[in-house]
Amino acid sequence: MGGFSRTNGLGSERAPLLDTQGRRSNNASEAGQLTDLEHGDAVPAANVGFCRVLSLAKPDAGKLIIATIALLIASTSSLLIPKFGGKIIDIVSRDIQTPEQKAEALDAVKSTIIGIFLIVIIGSVSTALRAWLFSSASERVVARLRKNLFNHLIHQEIAFFDVTRTGELLSRLSEDTQIIKNAATTNLSEALKNVSTMFIGLGFMFSTSWKLTLLALVVVPAISIAVRKFGRFLRDLSHKTQAAAAVASSIAEETFGGIRTIRSFAQEGYEISRYSEKVDETLKLGLKQAKVVGLFFGGLNAASTLSVITVVIYGANLTITGSMTPGSLTSFILYSLTVGSSVSGLSGLYTVAMKAAGASRRVFQLLDRVPSMPKSGNECPLGDQDAELVLDDIWFAYPSRPSNMVLKGISLKLEPGSKVALVGPSGGGKTTIANLIERFYDPIKGKILLNGVPLVAISHEHLHRKISIVSQEPVLFNCSIEENIAYGLDGKASSDDVENAAKMANAHEFISKFPDKYQTHVGERGVRLSGGQKQRIAIARALLMNPKILLLDEATSALDAESEYLVQDAMDSLMKGRTVLVIAHRLSTVKSANVVAVVSDGQVVECGTHEELLSKDGTYAALVRRQLQGPRNET
Ligand code: ADP
Ligand code: MG
Repeated sequence: MGGFSRTNGLGSERAPLLDTQGRRSNNASEAGQLTDLEHGDAVPAANVGFCRVLSLAKPDAGKLIIATIALLIASTSSLLIPKFGGKIIDIVSRDIQTPEQKAEALDAVKSTIIGIFLIVIIGSVSTALRAWLFSSASERVVARLRKNLFNHLIHQEIAFFDVTRTGELLSRLSEDTQIIKNAATTNLSEALKNVSTMFIGLGFMFSTSWKLTLLALVVVPAISIAVRKFGRFLRDLSHKTQAAAAVASSIAEETFGGIRTIRSFAQEGYEISRYSEKVDETLKLGLKQAKVVGLFFGGLNAASTLSVITVVIYGANLTITGSMTPGSLTSFILYSLTVGSSVSGLSGLYTVAMKAAGASRRVFQLLDRVPSMPKSGNECPLGDQDAELVLDDIWFAYPSRPSNMVLKGISLKLEPGSKVALVGPSGGGKTTIANLIERFYDPIKGKILLNGVPLVAISHEHLHRKISIVSQEPVLFNCSIEENIAYGLDGKASSDDVENAAKMANAHEFISKFPDKYQTHVGERGVRLSGGQKQRIAIARALLMNPKILLLDEATSALDAESEYLVQDAMDSLMKGRTVLVIAHRLSTVKSANVVAVVSDGQVVECGTHEELLSKDGTYAALVRRQLQGPRNET
């Protein structure tokens, strides 16, 4: 099964998207739906996700440590202010009679106030430091995560994009990363603050009365079980909510991308209801979450209040029997309230963390996804010599539709410097052959050799510098015409080179008529240009690469007869000295080819020169007759 090792689908812990036979393990994803990842909870624990989130903040560890120290200083100083306040009250409630005592008291108040000021300054500076460092770290975390994810996604194989909706990926990149960001840093800082307060408070409680402390802690196991259950529930719900939100964004993305089609069929209402339905699904999950959150916090409140009341009753007993002073009871109750508030703060933070763990599950699944196509090798078989391309018994089915064998044993040889034309009925597999030569996919069986080297072994950059394609529906990028033409050369082409390429592609004339000429922006996917203009820019883009192999997939189909004639001229000279595979729809192009191959139903049914095939009087002859008779041609 040469080169067909589809190792995995999305995420190693999940049901694979494709099994080893390349068969879909779950039909739901045929339409790129998200549900294929929904089944089977194999992600071990939320903590794993949370630790990974934390590990994203590692490069900022130094800053985070400083931020944590600042945090401790800030919370200590806020605890010190009441103490100094108490001092002042102590001073003023003293028995002051003589002027000396008065002056002394005033001095004492003054120095206490200076102390308070110092503490306020220190506290404010460390609060500012803490806030600044934690938020900047969280910004860095989200930027890092987004870049990692983008970098990872762009290297996935084309088949992945056949089954994954763009909107879903966008939602992972923008929304989920945002949720994760808050959990990784800001949340962490709050959690640290609460944990430290809780432990210090507990220490005070124990030193005041260990009996009462133990009594107060009786509710802890019950609360922690509830918190765990609740956390898990939230994590799963958040996972589902984010999934539903991602479907909604992919619908929105599809809608705005295809707005012209929607308008032309007047289906705005349908799209609105489709989108609303998904938003309502998200809403339903959100409402469910809100209900449970309410219940949880209500329960928590009841438990902690009951515990305080029990403590008060028992404490009152202890005080009456004389084993505790009223003062210690008062301070004990104050401590336990402080500890209680940090515990409830912590459980609030825990819920945020669990939500982030749910949101991050999919992000990490994407990050863990191993592309199912073997990586390109390092060989660079093409120097200055012409390219020879051999397709040897190629069998292929698209991974998104594995049961439909598209190519069934295609063998074809492109001699160096020759021109091979592919003709045949639509859907026969011609574009698929070009896709395989570009190594968008690997064949299931058979080999493609470039100057004797299998495509798999050839360096990715080398391959695409030597092979240029002008595809059936060229896609331009949302930048200037000049940038589009220079795209393959990392924008390193001179303006003269760009202009020459445009001239050769017969594009210079119309470009010059635009007010901004080569700086004209083409709009998203090139919407601001006509089909023929787009095609000519795509031809210029391919020309500038000066490739050894040129793949032309009905490259002139969107041109009118006049400009096609002109482009054809340019293309004829362009094809000289190159190995060319032209998928043609015009007789004139086919006639001049060294070899014509008729591809039908995934097989080469006839192969030879134009004359040879005509004399055979088979499929090709029939195609030619039809073209000569009718205004339309079928290739
Ligand atoms: P041609 O270029 O000869 O008109 P194609 O090579 O584009 O034909 O298509 C051959 C077959 O492959 C068609 O049946 C088409 O439905 C199928 N096909 C094309 N692209 C994909 C894809 N990305 N995923 C699944 N099937 C595809
Ligand atoms: Mg095609």
